[in-house]
Amino acid sequence: MSDINITQTELNAPVPPVMAKLQSSHSHVRHNWNLREVNALFAMPFNDLMFKAQTIHRENFNPNEVQVSTLLSIKTGACPEDCKYCSQSARNKTDLEKESLLAVDKVLEAAQRAKEMGSTRFCMGAAWRNPKERDMPYVLDMVKNVKALGMETCMTLGMLSGDQADRLNDAGLDYYNHNLDTSPEHYNQIITTRTYQDRLDTLDNVRSAGMKVCSGGIVGLGEKAIDRASLLIQLANLSPQPESVPINMLVKVEGTPLADVDDLESFDFIRCIAVARIMMPKSHVRLSAGRTSMNEQMQAMCFLAGANSIFYGCKLLTTENPETNQDIALFEKLGINTETVDTDTEAADKIIKTAIVDQQHSDLFYNASV
Ligand code: SF4
Repeated sequence: MSDINITQTELNAPVPPVMAKLQSSHSHVRHNWNLREVNALFAMPFNDLMFKAQTIHRENFNPNEVQVSTLLSIKTGACPEDCKYCSQSARNKTDLEKESLLAVDKVLEAAQRAKEMGSTRFCMGAAWRNPKERDMPYVLDMVKNVKALGMETCMTLGMLSGDQADRLNDAGLDYYNHNLDTSPEHYNQIITTRTYQDRLDTLDNVRSAGMKVCSGGIVGLGEKAIDRASLLIQLANLSPQPESVPINMLVKVEGTPLADVDDLESFDFIRCIAVARIMMPKSHVRLSAGRTSMNEQMQAMCFLAGANSIFYGCKLLTTENPETNQDIALFEKLGINTETVDTDTEAADKIIKTAIVDQQHSDLFYNASV
């Protein structure tokens, strides 16, 4: 039994036994979490929970280093899925401007800028149920070229077949993002056009192809506390655990069914980050959508709870993200450094020139087909 398995009796006991247990924590990875013990983690006194999460964080990561990704929407809006939080669903009446799939050179320019701002990973997201066969040559091209800039690559394109996952892996895609969104119990309240099992199957295809998994969820969807525990159990009990775990705070968008849902209490969000860190000690836990509504102090608290990855840039797919320079200022105040990646400027220049030559072809293709 794990030393993380703290019982309610222990929680109510005088401080010394609990603290002794906290201080001797070992952050081995487990895949057999159950609701009772995860609920007990969520119920810990806040300071004890933060201490435990930070202790585990320090056993596995440099506590003053944050991995930085940039997310670019490569195809925006008109998605046939019915995710009730999403501004990109064709079923939600939002002001979002739709955009066809971007040309490869535009994607590369954005990737180069992201690299110059310190991003080590470039994530490309398309509002699709799943990629169509006609799209595959272009997304594969994007992966190859962004990879050649010396950045890690990540894509989120919806559901993937085994064959598509294999091809993306062969093109050099490092990570595939596919979130579980919420607990299996709350899921039908949020999405009806694909099942929870569909999501798990895509994650399985990604893992089998040899790519790293980026998967997390959204909190503040009107779920109960037990749903947050249940979501984290789903993620932590994947074997292996996702390398990257985005924890999103719902960004309420006018025109979506969740526009008026009650706000999540800030401490509940921070607890979620801390419990994710404890349950997935070796994963990068990403502070993701919803950062605009967090002040610096709350973001700092999230880093203390074990978050060690963020998105840079002013757009997070289609919702706002704090300006990059605000992030840099916050990192300076906190003494946080960004994780680094090797650069190869000559290779970058060459790739961009090649991509510009290809632009006309790309534009013609997408005008005709999307
Ligand atoms: S979350 Fe993704 S799949 Fe769902 S509606 Fe938005 S873009 Fe489509």
